[in-house]
Amino acid sequence: MNLTGKRVAVLGAGRSGRAAADLALRHGGEVAVYDAGREEVFDGLRDEIRCCPRATEETGKACAADVVVISPGIETTGGFASSFARGAGEFIGETEFASRYFDGLVIGITGTNGKTTTTELVQRMVEAGGKSCEACGNYGRPLSDVVIDDHPPAAVSLELSSFQLETISTFRPDVAVWLNFSPDHMDRYRSVDEYRGAKLRIFKNQREDDAAVVRFGEEVGKISASRISFSATQSDADYALRGSEILCQGAKVLDLEETPLRGLHNAENVMAALAAVEAAKVMPKEAVAVFGEYSPPLHRCELVRTLDGVEYINDSKATNLHALEAALRSQSRPTVLIAGGKEKGLDYTPLLPVLKGRVSQIVVFGEIRRSLVDVFSPVARTVSAESLQDAVQIAREASATGGTVLFSPGTSSFDMFSGYEQRGDAYRKIVHALK
Ligand code: ADP
Repeated sequence: MNLTGKRVAVLGAGRSGRAAADLALRHGGEVAVYDAGREEVFDGLRDEIRCCPRATEETGKACAADVVVISPGIETTGGFASSFARGAGEFIGETEFASRYFDGLVIGITGTNGKTTTTELVQRMVEAGGKSCEACGNYGRPLSDVVIDDHPPAAVSLELSSFQLETISTFRPDVAVWLNFSPDHMDRYRSVDEYRGAKLRIFKNQREDDAAVVRFGEEVGKISASRISFSATQSDADYALRGSEILCQGAKVLDLEETPLRGLHNAENVMAALAAVEAAKVMPKEAVAVFGEYSPPLHRCELVRTLDGVEYINDSKATNLHALEAALRSQSRPTVLIAGGKEKGLDYTPLLPVLKGRVSQIVVFGEIRRSLVDVFSPVARTVSAESLQDAVQIAREASATGGTVLFSPGTSSFDMFSGYEQRGDAYRKIVHALK
């Protein structure tokens, strides 16, 4: 895509926007970056890129760019984005834009949960198979930043959020992975179907010679690519589980006990990764070798410490119910759950049957603590805490040797923290300080 003489407007001066602006500049575009923020948010941008701070809908109406590239953090249907879209020759997202400059192998990974874990595994497995591969997209560097390299990798393991998929048009992954689906981001989407629709776009441009790795039983409609299924609970899937063994078409590929990954949800992440790299012609033997030196990503069912016989687990990345449910189902010891955070419009009642009998007590904190007390109390003693520090203290008192304190918030952190990492780090610090 030659941009010589073309006006490119990039919306958003964050990491994705900056990377897209650099890429557009490299390909000859006249580039301007628009952001509602003040001058400071543009610090460090190249001189050749025009900065447009304090941008509004009025700015958008006056901007007639040949190509508008929107960052995933900006709502596509909001007034700001729409004002730029109206006069644009083309209106696309950063992933779509960057993908036009990459002709290597693309393994795209989406799902409500497990994307990061799977994206990391796929990257390692592809490299083990002898191809250079970068994990990027919604994880690590934006794709624009990767494709601009003088020596780009032969393959990308591309984590894709629904926000990134909303704005693709021609993007076509060689392998598309659909891990799972459950309601999330109800603060951004009007309905669950709208959220699902955004994610389903991952398959939209795939053809028969591409591969789609789809969790067995997921409703994804008609797909042109050839399908490979996986499931930790259904033996009919191409990749299935027998005890702790992962089987492919009935033959053992890997024993999960030989990896540091636990829980059925992680079994599915490993299966999805194996299926994805198989489709990319990596031999299973090469793929499983990555577990020789592998540690799972932090904040995902991470064991922080064992104190007085109680295991303290940090699952701060559980920002929705589906992840919280997966963490609960992975517990085999008496569990005290710490949950809560930002109100994001999720319905917690489907969790009740999973909580019942699995947790001895629940400690809730954050913006949604009061509503969670009402929802959870019928199935387990539920106590409200004023801070995370208090929550850990209460959980400690409620737990006993042989038990687990599971910090799996089930919603996002922005009521009290800058993100799940800060929240998980705070939990880890509090737990390490316990005497
Ligand atoms: P994502 O990048 O999609 O947010 P992560 O790998 O970072 O996924 O995991 C996010 C949360 O979801 C963590 O709490 C983790 O324990 C949980 N989780 C990971 N994989 C799965 C899965 N396949 N199904 C359900 N929950 C999962």
